[in-house]
Amino acid sequence: MNRSLFLLLTLAGSILWVGGVQAEELAHERLPELMPEVQRVLDKHYDDLEQLYKHLHANPELSYQEEKTSARLAEELRKLGFTVTERVGGYGVVGVLKNGNGPTVMVRADMDALPVIERTGLPYASKVRVKDAEGRDIGVMHACGHDMHMACWVGTARVLTELKDRWSGTLVFIGQPAEERGGGAKAMLEDGLYTRFPKPDYALALHCDGYTPHGVVAVTEGLALANVDSVDIIVKGQGGHGSAPHTTIDPIVIAARIVLDLQTLVSRETDPLDSAVVTVGSIHGGTKHNIIPNEVKMQLTVRSFKTSVRHHLLKGIERIAKAAAQAARAPEPEVIVHADEFTPAMVNDVRLTRKTAAALRKVLGEDCVVSKPPMMGGEDFSRFGLAGVPICMFRLGTESPKRLEEAANGGRPVPSMHSDTYYPVVEPTLKTGVQAMSAAVLNLLAK
Ligand SMILES: [Zn+2]
Ligand SMILES: [Zn+2]
Repeated sequence: MNRSLFLLLTLAGSILWVGGVQAEELAHERLPELMPEVQRVLDKHYDDLEQLYKHLHANPELSYQEEKTSARLAEELRKLGFTVTERVGGYGVVGVLKNGNGPTVMVRADMDALPVIERTGLPYASKVRVKDAEGRDIGVMHACGHDMHMACWVGTARVLTELKDRWSGTLVFIGQPAEERGGGAKAMLEDGLYTRFPKPDYALALHCDGYTPHGVVAVTEGLALANVDSVDIIVKGQGGHGSAPHTTIDPIVIAARIVLDLQTLVSRETDPLDSAVVTVGSIHGGTKHNIIPNEVKMQLTVRSFKTSVRHHLLKGIERIAKAAAQAARAPEPEVIVHADEFTPAMVNDVRLTRKTAAALRKVLGEDCVVSKPPMMGGEDFSRFGLAGVPICMFRLGTESPKRLEEAANGGRPVPSMHSDTYYPVVEPTLKTGVQAMSAAVLNLLAK
């Protein structure tokens, strides 16, 4: 080959390549003409989807106990013609629908609720009560919007099956258990999600966002959510009579010191330009006013973006707990890092996220798609990406714009996710969720 022909071909190749990247980041050209059809199917099914949402909201199940919820999701997919496998990694549901050649797209909804007594006052509020491991009476509530994720997921499955002649490829719809405990995605992967079923080329999910108005979705390219660790500290002392503290080693005082000292891990030991959180979310010790107990149990959530920061925090927690015990002549405390509940930081694939955002802008409007910085929240959806599949999770606004505006102007703050008063405004949230997820999938599979 002569040199100038070689240069010409190289040049042509790089132009095509650049063109290819740009094209990949754009929305599918057919999307605008498909959206009225999506709307038609959504309108037809809306009342039923709302009922399904309210049913799921009123009947929440805790992590690893999603028996009825998963059965309902499996039934929904079967009715639509998916080949459904249940009990994948616990109560996981996998539905596969093959529809000609093309990429495989996975759509994930998480199914578990939280140990929270609901105080929304909604007519469809959860009244479910269960006993926890210690026999205490606790409420169960979908306080993280997973019920909304499931309703949007079923709605999207209905839209896509009715519009089957407009796209080509394979759908893998999964209902994932135990997201709140960080173990569900791992369990499904270990039970062969990517080997027993078609391995996805792309994986999509949405998550409710109480700080974003309904009708709006938020996207984050790249690093989006934090490393999350759960740590227990069992502070040990020597109990006795409350009137004679000198004859005891008081674990409550030691625990109080530990709570305050732990804060220095973030404020004094972490580079101010790095992100870290150490929260003591639960502390229990003692039974009565005048008894010094033998031990105090603490439960922590520990968050970071960088692996090095994560390791420093985990080592620091142990060091501080041991030092406080030693200073008080107490036995060595137990520090337990729950490796099985670790959730790795979530990184949205940049190209898939840009392409999805382009599609969402096209169908929802420029103003209804916003970019948001990363958050210290965690999501084990990250694991589907770490296992080698480009992932994109976008956030679905759930709050009334008026209420957000009032809060921004000094009014009553809006409840955060996991709060006992959090709830999505159903109709606009559900409709936007189904439109957005249907558009995101069609963007990858449309003919
Ligand atoms: Zn949650
Ligand atoms: Zn969640």
